[in-house]
Amino acid sequence: MALKVVDEAIQLHGAGGISQDTPLAAYWMHLRTLRLADGPDAVHRRQVARAELRKHTQEKI
Ligand SMILES: Cc1cc2nc3c(=O)[nH]c(=O)nc-3n(C[C@H](O)[C@H](O)[C@H](O)COP(=O)(O)OP(=O)(O)OC[C@H]3O[C@@H](n4cnc5c(N)ncnc54)[C@H](O)[C@@H]3O)c2cc1C
Repeated sequence: MALKVVDEAIQLHGAGGISQDTPLAAYWMHLRTLRLADGPDAVHRRQVARAELRKHTQEKI
């Protein structure tokens, strides 16, 4: 979500949004890195799905 917000802010600022006149480009880079640094998004989604499914089954997931 944060990445989407920053991306939209960059768009609103036009080329200025990707210049070093605003911190937006740096924000985007740091936020994008976080989608990997703490584990890939896909792995987070899988963990959430397993936790939710565990609530509804006795089987080992
Ligand atoms: C800035 C930064 C800081 C980091 N700091 C740390 C740290 O402090 N401690 C630490 O231990 N590691 C750290 N990492 C490593 C980080 O956790 C790994 O880069 C991350 O887990 C992805 O592993 P990988 O790069 O080997 O990519 P891969 O494991 O090769 O993943 C590449 C892609 O494959 C897919 N994928 C991989 N595994 C699965 C899965 N199980 N299910 C579905 N899809 C999958 C995803 O699409 C993923 O984006 C850091 C990385 C960065 C960039």
